[in-house]
Amino acid sequence: MWTLILNCGSSSVKFAVLDPASGQVRLTGLAEKLGAGAEHAPPGTGATIRFEVDGERQHRPLTSGTYAEAFDAIGQRIRTLPDPPSIGAVGHRTVHGGTRFSGSVLITPEVLDAMRECIPLAPLHNPANIAGIEAAQAAFPGLPQVAVFDTAFHHTLPDVAARYAVPDTWYREYGVRRYGFHGTSHAYVARRAAPMLDRPLEDLNLITAHLGNGSSVCAVQGGQSVDTSMGLTPLEGLVMGTRSGDVDPGLHEFMHNTAGLTLEQVMTALNKHSGLKGLSGGLSNDMRELEEAAHSGHAAAQFALDAFVYRLAKYVAGMAVALGRVDGLVFTGGIGENSAYIRQRTVERLGVLGFHLDAEANANLPRGTRGLISAPGSVPVLVVTTNEELAIALETLRLVTGDPEDRPALTEEHPA
Ligand code: AMP
Repeated sequence: MWTLILNCGSSSVKFAVLDPASGQVRLTGLAEKLGAGAEHAPPGTGATIRFEVDGERQHRPLTSGTYAEAFDAIGQRIRTLPDPPSIGAVGHRTVHGGTRFSGSVLITPEVLDAMRECIPLAPLHNPANIAGIEAAQAAFPGLPQVAVFDTAFHHTLPDVAARYAVPDTWYREYGVRRYGFHGTSHAYVARRAAPMLDRPLEDLNLITAHLGNGSSVCAVQGGQSVDTSMGLTPLEGLVMGTRSGDVDPGLHEFMHNTAGLTLEQVMTALNKHSGLKGLSGGLSNDMRELEEAAHSGHAAAQFALDAFVYRLAKYVAGMAVALGRVDGLVFTGGIGENSAYIRQRTVERLGVLGFHLDAEANANLPRGTRGLISAPGSVPVLVVTTNEELAIALETLRLVTGDPEDRPALTEEHPA
């Protein structure tokens, strides 16, 4: 069954057509600069859509810049592929399922209502996801549609990991708790790591590190998330591309009192101008660029890398506490899969947990491949390439064709 996978953001849609059974990809692409005012943009600056088929790219402008126009263009492009694939279902990457969703779901009017209830938890992402689903329902009528939530994998977090030490009413009335993100990726790489370690997932305690523009670590016990570094929002935890990760919550008031910043200005700074970008003095949020700068002697770039590694190693060690026993550490995401330097520096800090690197295996692991990079006798350290589109397609297939008994039901009102 061919699936169309959609990741609808507020101004963009990332898409792919793939067969979950074989992993074969027929089409990928990105529609950008969608949204209000797109049709009034000066020539050459408005909404566009890019298709990639067999490594060949095509690019064309969109006139109205709506989801409907983008989906229409995707539908047309699918129909003009050689031996056009017949799409059996649409899978949506959806961000915040709050406590209502403990797994992926077939989209129904009730599901959309529950997603609307979760808007306060993700005011930017959930409205875009919902609008994208409604437009896809109109553009592809009759196809089953599935929502795969970034938060759902973490619904198994025990309360000690999920709760903040804040007034109880905040939790009960507003759902203030840790939800975690990147769940699709953490779940996928944990599943893929098990055969590499020649052990069933159910017996394994793994720490997965998804390191990209956004980064998080997860403690995966027997295939279930038991702790993770992101919280109520994807701002908590590790040093990221432009996000600060952990700060003292008192910082907001401090910056207001001392620098006169508004709450909105502080939040913008923590989301957009912090992390690697902030630490490198505004040089870059891109790990590759920072590594190049650091290797040619840029002190602030080097410091950004040092701080990234330190926070990451500290969090990995914290996840070991959640697990009790650690059977493996898995690196994934753009940085985790590609930066031998970050992997080396991180594992060097984790000897205390029994992790030791095979420096040669680490340096020589070809890009885009998975493999073992630890020395003999070490707790295994693995690189596993993530594939969120495939993971969403597999979930879509499972929901559409699987036993209805295996489908998680909507849970009751938040929070617990
Ligand atoms: P993602 O968000 O998963 O696409 O990851 C993006 C991050 O991966 C960016 O910071 C990139 O600089 C980083 N990245 C990609 N390739 C490399 C590489 N060869 N070396 C270091 N970092 C890389």
